[in-house]
Amino acid sequence: MSLKTLANKVKKEQKEMDKPFAEKFTAAIDNFLVNPPGEGRPNRLAFRPSSYYKCVRQTYYFLKGVTSKNKRFPRSQRILAVGTALHEWVQTEVLMKMAEMPDSPIKLVPKEELPSFGKGGIEFIAEHQAPPMEVKFLDTRFTKKFPISAMVDGSLTMMNKDFLFEFKTINPTDFEMLIEPLTDHIKQGAIYALSTGVRSVMFLYLCKGTQEWKPYLITYTDEQLDWVVTRIQTTEQFVLEDILPPKEISNQCKWCGYKNICDKELKEPEKNS
Ligand code: SF4
Repeated sequence: MSLKTLANKVKKEQKEMDKPFAEKFTAAIDNFLVNPPGEGRPNRLAFRPSSYYKCVRQTYYFLKGVTSKNKRFPRSQRILAVGTALHEWVQTEVLMKMAEMPDSPIKLVPKEELPSFGKGGIEFIAEHQAPPMEVKFLDTRFTKKFPISAMVDGSLTMMNKDFLFEFKTINPTDFEMLIEPLTDHIKQGAIYALSTGVRSVMFLYLCKGTQEWKPYLITYTDEQLDWVVTRIQTTEQFVLEDILPPKEISNQCKWCGYKNICDKELKEPEKNS
């Protein structure tokens, strides 16, 4: 270890020791959040609603099974956990309980009643960790090798109209600006509509600062669903033919777990990297 490295190490340790007790308390919790016990199951190589429309090269790396070097940040972990807790609240404490009331205007639609249930090539999966109203499926109908793997927050019916339900939590600044669902969320909803056969999705946004909410019902056109199919088929083709897709430089690159190999124009990591 060089003298400079050693000096930096000592300085860092001293800085840690000088932290006030209260800061050490949150630092200990944050350390737990970014290093949780046990790693989850490895991701299935499949198209995901939250990413299939993003950079094609990024999806190419994911589908090839390249390990993403995404760093965990304490605040992101907290945001994720709060979002999950609020989802559980609206699903189990509100919609599921409400739907049980005989005079409720909103009811759950069982997965067996969804238009694509029982069709060849799509499997609805009952076992999952999410609240029971969550609809989970694996759809192999549109691609050759990589299926669509997705979970939507629920399927509901009200006043003889069936629709999917997608809950989103959002910060106050973004909530104020919201006049329609975010573009990314509309693309995410399109894959749910394509697979389930339910054309409408109710996006319900809850502001995490004020607890106000805004609902938007989107009904998807054939063109929008065709766009999804073209998108996943084109992306899959790059993987099947092992052709590195072009870069799509954007703000996302800063957070991309594949940036290292992408910058080097590599199809996969170098053997000893
Ligand atoms: S670094 Fe940017 S261009 Fe490269 S794979 Fe990631 S998102 Fe795509």
